[in-house]
Amino acid sequence: MNYLDLSIRDIHQALVEKKVTPLELTKEALKRAKENKDNCFEMILEEEALAFASTLTEPEADNLLWGIPYLAKDNFSTKGLPTTASSNILVGYKPLYDATVIAKLKEKKAVLIGKTTLDELAMGGTGTTGHLGITYNPYDPKHERMIGGSSCGSAAAMAAGIVPFALGSDTGDSVRKPASYGGVIGVKPTWGRISRYGLFPFAPSLDHVGYFTRYAEDAAVLLEALSGRDVMDSTSSVKDVDAYVAESEKELVSPRIAVLDDIVESIRDNAIRDAFLDSLKKLEEAGAMINHIRFGHDLLESIYATYIVISCAEATSNDANLDGIKFGPYYEGKTYQEVMSQARTKGFSELIKRRFVIGSFALMRENQDVLFLRAQKNRAKIVERTNQILADNDFIFVPAAPTVAPKLGATSDKLSDEYLIADNHLALGNFAGLPSITMPLGYENGLPFGVNFMGRAFEESKLLSICRTFEKITGICGDYYGKEGK
Ligand code: GLN
Repeated sequence: MNYLDLSIRDIHQALVEKKVTPLELTKEALKRAKENKDNCFEMILEEEALAFASTLTEPEADNLLWGIPYLAKDNFSTKGLPTTASSNILVGYKPLYDATVIAKLKEKKAVLIGKTTLDELAMGGTGTTGHLGITYNPYDPKHERMIGGSSCGSAAAMAAGIVPFALGSDTGDSVRKPASYGGVIGVKPTWGRISRYGLFPFAPSLDHVGYFTRYAEDAAVLLEALSGRDVMDSTSSVKDVDAYVAESEKELVSPRIAVLDDIVESIRDNAIRDAFLDSLKKLEEAGAMINHIRFGHDLLESIYATYIVISCAEATSNDANLDGIKFGPYYEGKTYQEVMSQARTKGFSELIKRRFVIGSFALMRENQDVLFLRAQKNRAKIVERTNQILADNDFIFVPAAPTVAPKLGATSDKLSDEYLIADNHLALGNFAGLPSITMPLGYENGLPFGVNFMGRAFEESKLLSICRTFEKITGICGDYYGKEGK
């Protein structure tokens, strides 16, 4: 048994009792990080982490995160440390300040041991487009399968058991989908619950700080630590932060759970569908009321197109500052256009360029009505339908993804329901800004898959409570690839 494998509360207990020290935990996490072969890291902060951990000598009994090693996706600003967003355009960039979540974790004396890879600028879902190449799924040591993205490095590091928690960001599903492929918990809270200050923007109306944990209680611990109003982010909520850990311990009485049948039906993998349907029975046995509901096929089918138009449009305008002058490498040129065009041509990969073309096209005056505004109207319809379902139900519950981690390079029919609906529905949570958590459910041929619970805005306590119930049902939380005794 290694202390690093325990829940945050249990590690904390061992720290307080001085059975283990932050330095020992940090060394173990660094050792695992260095042994890992899945290309999870932009950088391992060995020196910094060891120096900080060795200052932590007096345990803080009331601070669960004291001395706990963690990782952050490399799109969170870290003062004085490189922050690349896995893009060549930001190589060499060192932010002058910490993202609020990084600052909060520093204050709690959690130990940052490294920064993880992502799909370039957090755009994409495969974990293959970052400037360091493909990040692999630890569950396939032959390196034939993706971990998914865009928070690929954090997800893979969690699936490999390197740290008890890792930060990610989620604009469409970038924490919750790779969580499913990696057999870990992936959390995206209500929009505004956690400050985004210092997180590189992708599409701010959809962007959320998210994170991965191995245990449901840990998810509550993190939410309590990271949430709250931040004057540096005017979109952060002024609502009080609940005592998520204590609140989520309370079992819900007959929670009403909506299952979206049109999503379940679009899944062709029988093992995943059957396991999901089986979990409904277990939830019922645990006292839940299951309501089978149809969201509306056409609306579901429109999620992807709506997401692409809105996210690309927002990204195009947000990333206009990556011009080789304000940010990015400077190339000589006679005009601003020349400097900018060189920096952007050399700095971005194909995927990013394609998305900027889509974004610019959608924002052109002559196209705005048919593309951008139409997408906004459709988003409003989707949000309305989602909230309508949640008016009568506490949660929406669906499989998180239609498959286990796909093989790299495998193609799918982009017009099928399986792709358009089952592979893209997690964006509902971003459109509506609702809290949404992926929980591991099981394994198919040794590869993990998960489910997703979504709740009402700012009802994270309830959402975490159902996740804690679900964790007891599956009994697989805490697993990672290669865990001793597994
Ligand atoms: N897969 C989605 C995309 O390609 C989501 C990305 C994200 O959530 N950051 O944009």
